[in-house]
Amino acid sequence: MGDLAGKNGLIVGVANKRSLAWAIARAADEAGARLTLSYATERFEANARKLADTLATPPQLVACDVTNDAAVAELYRQVDETHGGLDFLVHAVAFASREAISAPFLETSRADFAQSLDISAYSLVALARGAAPLMERRGGGSVVTLTYLGSERVFPHYNVMGVAKAALEATVRYLANDLGPLNIRVNAVSAGPIKTLAASGIPEFSRILQHYRESAPLGRTVDADEVAAAACFLLGPGGRGVTGEVLMVDGGYHATGM
Ligand code: NAD
Repeated sequence: MGDLAGKNGLIVGVANKRSLAWAIARAADEAGARLTLSYATERFEANARKLADTLATPPQLVACDVTNDAAVAELYRQVDETHGGLDFLVHAVAFASREAISAPFLETSRADFAQSLDISAYSLVALARGAAPLMERRGGGSVVTLTYLGSERVFPHYNVMGVAKAALEATVRYLANDLGPLNIRVNAVSAGPIKTLAASGIPEFSRILQHYRESAPLGRTVDADEVAAAACFLLGPGGRGVTGEVLMVDGGYHATGM
C-alpha cells in the first residue's frame, strides 16, 4: 500500500489524458487513495469516465464549474456523502480567453482579466473553503494547486495568466496561514511547460519548450508524471511539515540566469 492508502482525495481539473490533474489522479490512485474526480462541464464527462475506468479504485465523478458557488457546494455534498470527509484537494484549473493570450497584455479587457482571475485564482479560495470542514473532521488535510513561473517573469503570450498565477501563489500563502491551525496545509507545484489542452492555447508554446530544453540544468523539460510525483509528496506524509510553499518542478530552469 502506498503513502495515500486510506486517504480521500478530490482532484479538480480533469479534461483529458494529458491533463496534469489526470497524471496526479493516476499517481494518487497508485498510492492507495480513494478519489473524486471533477471536470468543468458535461462536455468532458465521457473522457473522464473512460479514464476513470482505468484506475485501480473506481473514483466518483462530478461535474463542477468552479465559477458557480452552488456547483461547488454540490460537489462537496457529493464528496462528503460518498467518502465521509476529505484528506486532500488538488486544484488544477486555469483559464484565459484566446483574445487575452493573443493580443499584447496592455490590451487585456476588464472582462477577460476578471474571468481569468476568477477561474484561475479565486476558485482555489472557494474550493479550499468547501474542503476545510471536511478536512477538519479528518484531523487535517493537504491542498495542492498548480502554478507557473509566468507569475514572476514575463513569458511570451502568458499575459493575464501570469497575473492570475501571481494571485494564485499569494492565495496559497494566505490560505496556508488561515488553515494551518486546522492542520490543513496549502502548497503549489510550479510545473515547467508541458503540452496539455490549456497549454495548446498559448501561441508559440513550442518555442517556450525549446527554450527550457536549451536552458534548464537537466537539459530537458519535465513530464506530467514528474509533476504528479511532486504533488503526491506534498499531499502525503512526506510533506507534513511543508505549507505556504511553491515547489519548482521545472528541471531547474528557474535557477538559471542565462
Ligand atoms: P488542462 O487543460 O488539462 O487543465 C485545465 C483544466 O481547467 C481543464 O480541466 C478545464 O476544463 C478546467 N477549467 C477551466 N475552466 C473551468 C471552470 N470554469 N470550472 C472548472 N474547471 C475549469 O491543462 P493543464 O496544463 O493540465 O492545466 C492544469 C493546471 O496546471 C492549470 O492551473 C495550469 O495553469 C497549470 N500548469 C500547467 C502547465 C503546463 O505547461 N501545462 C505548467 C504549469 C502549470
